[in-house]
Amino acid sequence: MTASTPALTARLPVDVVNALVAIVGRDHVLTDPSVTISYSRDWSGRYGGTVFGVVRPGSTQEVVEVIKTCVAHQIPVLPQGGNTGLVGGSVPGHDDPPMLIVSTRRLNRLDAVDQLTGQVTVGSGVTLGDLHAHVNASGWNYGVDLASRESCTVGGNIGTNAGGIRVCCYGMTRKQVVGIEVVLPDGSVMSHLTGLIKDNTGYNFPSLFTGSEGTLGVITAARLALVRPPRASAVALIGVANAQHALSIVSSAAPSGSRLLAAEIIDAPMLKLIADTASLPMPLSAPSPHLLLLETESEAPGEISMTLPGEVEAVVATDAQAKARFWKYRELAGESVGHLGITHRFDVSVPRHRWDEFSHAVRDAVMPLPDVAYYFSFGHLADGNLHLEVVGPAADDDRVDDTVLHLVADFGGSISAEHGVGRQKPKYLHLSRSAAEIAAMRVLKNAFDPHGLFNPGALLPAE
Ligand SMILES: Cc1cc2nc3c(=O)[nH]c(=O)nc-3n(C[C@H](O)[C@H](O)[C@H](O)COP(=O)(O)OP(=O)(O)OC[C@H]3O[C@@H](n4cnc5c(N)ncnc54)[C@H](O)[C@@H]3O)c2cc1C
Repeated sequence: MTASTPALTARLPVDVVNALVAIVGRDHVLTDPSVTISYSRDWSGRYGGTVFGVVRPGSTQEVVEVIKTCVAHQIPVLPQGGNTGLVGGSVPGHDDPPMLIVSTRRLNRLDAVDQLTGQVTVGSGVTLGDLHAHVNASGWNYGVDLASRESCTVGGNIGTNAGGIRVCCYGMTRKQVVGIEVVLPDGSVMSHLTGLIKDNTGYNFPSLFTGSEGTLGVITAARLALVRPPRASAVALIGVANAQHALSIVSSAAPSGSRLLAAEIIDAPMLKLIADTASLPMPLSAPSPHLLLLETESEAPGEISMTLPGEVEAVVATDAQAKARFWKYRELAGESVGHLGITHRFDVSVPRHRWDEFSHAVRDAVMPLPDVAYYFSFGHLADGNLHLEVVGPAADDDRVDDTVLHLVADFGGSISAEHGVGRQKPKYLHLSRSAAEIAAMRVLKNAFDPHGLFNPGALLPAE
């Protein structure tokens, strides 16, 4: 399905519509295709399929009643947050059965920050941006941050185990989730939001549901660990020859007592596209093959605690406005490529010392493929996490995907560093997971969702 394809909507039986309306109210059952279209296609425009409509429950109890209704009528459901996922997990696929989107956006509770533990309990539909604003006001930070922060939700971040720009300092989403509430496919509620620091009482459900991509239940709330904000920080943009050069700078950039807060890299074609698309000046006077963005903690506002080698060209910002301007070069990457057309996006990781070798191998293998017009690379350097963007081939042409993901396996990497598997990668899951692991995932899936009604077609390959 492409961006020009009209929304496809299947009709729900009238008694189901009536039951849903009785649960959530008429305003929160959406069936008009001109409204549901934005829920049935993903942000990238590459994925989308047929929906029955959208239901927007406003409480955990309403989620329970919605799920019971769907299961009683054997209607497939797809939990959706901000629909910013980039692997087709948040929308039905072109060949999937119609699904009912369960939008979590009204599950937006924001409890007071627990100052003693540095934790907060929030609804799964809270956007990441609202979560940041809420905890910042109480003197804390939340350790996960992404460019999609104003749209993506806590539930979606947990569903995908989102990474983002602060992983090198605070870790992925899984590390922050200390408690979870989920409505399971049988309609029962599993709620464990105490946030006890020590709680060794068996299987760890926050961890299991983190990265479950809507296949095991609807996450309705989470207890999140917070972090203390850095005292102050400085952001540098640095011209570098390649990733290896950048890594050598990163490894000694933050002196003892100061934390490395971010290390991002952008290749020259990507930087030029961002600057052209957003009408930004090129940040450095001399062109270089890559731009490195570094953020380190400093002792006080206006100060710079960052060690940079003498021979590189760099500009450094310490005030909030200038830092935000520098970050734009990185944060507008995905959006800028989107303007060029349907993009085959890859979010992969490889051992960091093989970044350059891998990136060259991908470019050499992909550029000769039919219809490929552009290749860009950028990513979270400190985590060995590359974002590769290939523009040109049709949405359903998998030749680029085949090539890139097999190369990832050859280089000992992961086919999904942070976006998840979605509908883009189930058939490639074996490249990163063993047969035993995939079999164990199936056992879990069948145990939680015996009717296969939760996000069918996502994450696990067809049997
Ligand atoms: C500009 C841009 C930049 C991005 N940068 C990053 C980045 O740096 N790092 C990164 O990791 N990702 C990034 N992403 C991808 C995306 O924002 C993340 O995957 C995000 O976590 C998705 O959140 P969402 O609320 O939009 O989820 P959705 O897209 O709505 O859903 C994603 C998946 O989670 C499931 N899900 C959503 N809510 C729930 C719930 N309540 N219960 C159960 N399952 C649920 C869905 O079924 C689906 O499988 C970026 C995306 C964009 C557009």
